[in-house]
Amino acid sequence: MKLKPIHNLKNIQGQRVLVRVDFNVPLKDGKIIDDYRLQAALPTLEYLLSSGARLILLTHLGDPQGKAVPDLSLKPIANHLGGLLKRPVIFVKETVGYQADAAVNSLKDGEVLLLENLRFNQGEYQDDLKFAKRLAAYGNFYVNEAFSVCHRKQASISALRRLLPAYHGLQLSGEIKALDKILKPELPLVVVMGGAKISTKLPLIKKLKSSADKILVGGALANNFFKHLDWEVGKSLVDNDELSKLEIFFKNGKIDDKIILPLDVVVKNESGQAQVLPVKNIKKTDTVLDIGPETIRLFSNYIKEAQTIVWNGPMGYFEEHSYSFGTLNVAMAIAARSTGHAFGLVGGGETVAALQQTKMEEYVDFISTGGGAMLSYLGGEKMPGLD
Ligand code: ADP
Ligand code: MG
Repeated sequence: MKLKPIHNLKNIQGQRVLVRVDFNVPLKDGKIIDDYRLQAALPTLEYLLSSGARLILLTHLGDPQGKAVPDLSLKPIANHLGGLLKRPVIFVKETVGYQADAAVNSLKDGEVLLLENLRFNQGEYQDDLKFAKRLAAYGNFYVNEAFSVCHRKQASISALRRLLPAYHGLQLSGEIKALDKILKPELPLVVVMGGAKISTKLPLIKKLKSSADKILVGGALANNFFKHLDWEVGKSLVDNDELSKLEIFFKNGKIDDKIILPLDVVVKNESGQAQVLPVKNIKKTDTVLDIGPETIRLFSNYIKEAQTIVWNGPMGYFEEHSYSFGTLNVAMAIAARSTGHAFGLVGGGETVAALQQTKMEEYVDFISTGGGAMLSYLGGEKMPGLD
């Protein structure tokens, strides 16, 4: 995708720049538990501030459905951000309105204003042009630094960027450049897919299947393929409503040879014990919760040969120790092959959490914070914030 990075923004001394960030951070008792999303936006904010711009920050927090929910106010975020930027961050308790107007009008060069949660407004959800115009009136320029919501058709992402000269933040630009390396890969490309939510993953598998050499399927995702092949899956997690969508990966009852399914699995058996089994030996009373050792070896061999690797979705129920080895071994194989050998990209909330357990995240070339947006971008779906 063609980018318009913020370095193209010239002479912004004294100009008001609206920056759509993603400060959707986890909060507990009004305190931020993990501020990586704030940290990720700092280079863009600092760059704009050092150019003498006046910053007006827009973000959502949680999903309040167009109503003001006190627990989802951005006040604690303004305070925390002030600490990171080492300057006060002005906060107003509304996104648009008289108070916001006044705060915007009195904003000086190098000052930062955070407006209240975008999603307290129905207009945000409805991609409402009127709401977007009220926001646009606050700025001379618009910067999108919120890749993770670019797949949403919401006012601050979609309508707003057509109302002002629009630019891409540094974090967003980095994300797109990395994802474009997957879309135009050095071959062989190996795609590793797992996790639970099959509907969000199918477009990506479909799209990357033409360029990929192998698509390694693990996690609960694989159960659906087993079931489609009429194999016993016992009590395993299966998405019955989506099963028919797998048809495209089969010809005359045989699976596409690019798609590699597990050879063996770890089940929780009738007596509640973890047990390794070939996939054909799964019993009615078993629950498949991880890939087995033969599969780890098979997957690792493909990963070792790759020049480009993309991984989304854990190989099993890694939150429980007995069922974490498949995921952690795959994570380590990918980390070992990445940086210098192959280009390795890992994304997805739980997937990144699993990678972090290995302490090897620095060995992976790029960690996408995009989640759903990453899947949409790689799957070639509509991106209202980018298209
Ligand atoms: P991500 O957030 O990385 O995109 P998903 O949200 O799709 O990944 O899926 C992650 C979840 O899938 C994890 O919480 C994991 O426990 C679960 N999972 C993976 N494999 C299995 C399985 N075989 N049975 C049950 N849950 C599984
Ligand atoms: Mg998830």
